[in-house]
Amino acid sequence: KPRLFSGMQPSADSLQIGNYIGALLQWKQMQVSHDAIFCVVDLHAITVAQDPAELREATRRTAAQYIAAGIDPELSTLFVQSHVLAHPQLAWVLNTITGFGEAARMTQFKDKSAKQGTDATTVGLFAYPMLMAADILLYNAVDVPVGEDQRQHVELTRDLATRFNSRFGETFVIPEAQIQKATAKIYDLQEPTNKMSKSASTDKGVIWMLDEPSKSAKKIKSATTDSDGEVRYDVAGKPGISNLLTIYSVLADRSIESLETEYAGRGYGDFKKELAEVVVETFGPIRARTLELLDDPAELDRILAKGADKAAAIADATLATVYDRIGLLPRA
Ligand code: ATP
Ligand code: MG
Repeated sequence: KPRLFSGMQPSADSLQIGNYIGALLQWKQMQVSHDAIFCVVDLHAITVAQDPAELREATRRTAAQYIAAGIDPELSTLFVQSHVLAHPQLAWVLNTITGFGEAARMTQFKDKSAKQGTDATTVGLFAYPMLMAADILLYNAVDVPVGEDQRQHVELTRDLATRFNSRFGETFVIPEAQIQKATAKIYDLQEPTNKMSKSASTDKGVIWMLDEPSKSAKKIKSATTDSDGEVRYDVAGKPGISNLLTIYSVLADRSIESLETEYAGRGYGDFKKELAEVVVETFGPIRARTLELLDDPAELDRILAKGADKAAAIADATLATVYDRIGLLPRA
């Protein structure tokens, strides 16, 4: 089976349904056809300021949501990034073969640092893409499912792997970004031209995976639509309804066309009410399972420790080869 690596930051109390539709659902499907490795990337999270107690809790909650959404820790490898020491170790080596200008051209860094100013921007944020490259290359991952926004970072990973291989001998597999199709992008319910996101959306516009079912239903019912009353997919003209159609289509596993036909001549009220039921049916059990996992943190920590052991067995071997290739003296 081809090896796959993907990860998500522990950056909020709950993931939002865009994370589920855009990432977790794909992961769940791909774990069957792949040797899949899924990581909660806490070392990436600290490139911006975090509250220590909240970070620890968010890391557990994120892992619990992966499992509740269908990531099977027996079938896949599921672990916390900071539990496998080789990640920052390889990242350091990759830093030493990355050009300063090359790293400075990363658009995510440019955008974020421009917003914050260079003194508020950490060196950690600058080095973020090389840590991400280490995450991927340690496991010789072939497939890396990511959002469009991560394409450039996977490109850099490929460049660094190629550079290392040509300088020090064949070591890394060159990975490939698997970018999800455009239909899987979910927008804010209140401002349907903005992406739904953990940090950039208003609470009313986001459906959190851990929201109470009645709350999610309410948010769907008060989602922004338009006044022509026709359930029709038209992203430019009807962004609100189109977004709801996308969510419905993915969660109920039905085509947009069949939904348009079903709701032809019926009002938005019916459509929203039935979509709310689909959302509740999908996320009710996921929420319940997450809360159950969080109720026994010792057991959850054991699952993550087992995952870290599996991951470290692969990562440590890669790091040992890298250290040897670049000429570090092995400890006697
Ligand atoms: P943040 O605001 O912290 O960036 P986020 O909600 O955008 O949070 P990320 O951690 O950036 O989440 O992304 C995690 C995964 O979820 C990525 O694979 C990303 O492509 C996917 N994702 C995030 N938001 C959406 C969305 N609105 N629609 C589809 N996929 C999404
Ligand atoms: Mg994001």
